[in-house]
Amino acid sequence: MHDNNFMKSSVCIFDIDGTLANCDHRLHYIKNKPKNWQAFYSGCMDDLLIWPVAEMLELFSKNNLIYIVTGRPESNRSLTEAWLNHHNIKYDKLIMRGDRDFRKSPDYKSSVCDKIEAEGNKIILSVEDRKDCVNMFINRDIYTFDVSNGAEHDA
Ligand SMILES: [Mg+2]
Repeated sequence: MHDNNFMKSSVCIFDIDGTLANCDHRLHYIKNKPKNWQAFYSGCMDDLLIWPVAEMLELFSKNNLIYIVTGRPESNRSLTEAWLNHHNIKYDKLIMRGDRDFRKSPDYKSSVCDKIEAEGNKIILSVEDRKDCVNMFINRDIYTFDVSNGAEHDA
């Protein structure tokens, strides 16, 4: 008999801003209106690595695919890849938001989950700092580490 799980790859999802990257130094760009997302994203090279999450990623990468799923726009891809490489983060896919995709983060990330699952993968866990995204993952029955560490972030 065919086991449906046989074909599936297990995927761990990691967020970036506030999860792998400490973006506190540039949050002021989006704390007040008008929000300056361009300046917020442009400052990402100066983010410090949140090392406990990076260690967790490395641990889970031994037996699973690591998909980094971020609300950052595609226009920020080269900076984001440079930052990930600089910090020696090993991942299988970096999924970014389309430049003209203005959906709320949980809606965007939920659609990414749909796509990952439609490709035959099983999402086994998520690591996330945004409460509304944490709730979305949990509602999808995805085991989720809430790494907000007491902070409220919009990114
Ligand atoms: Mg985040």
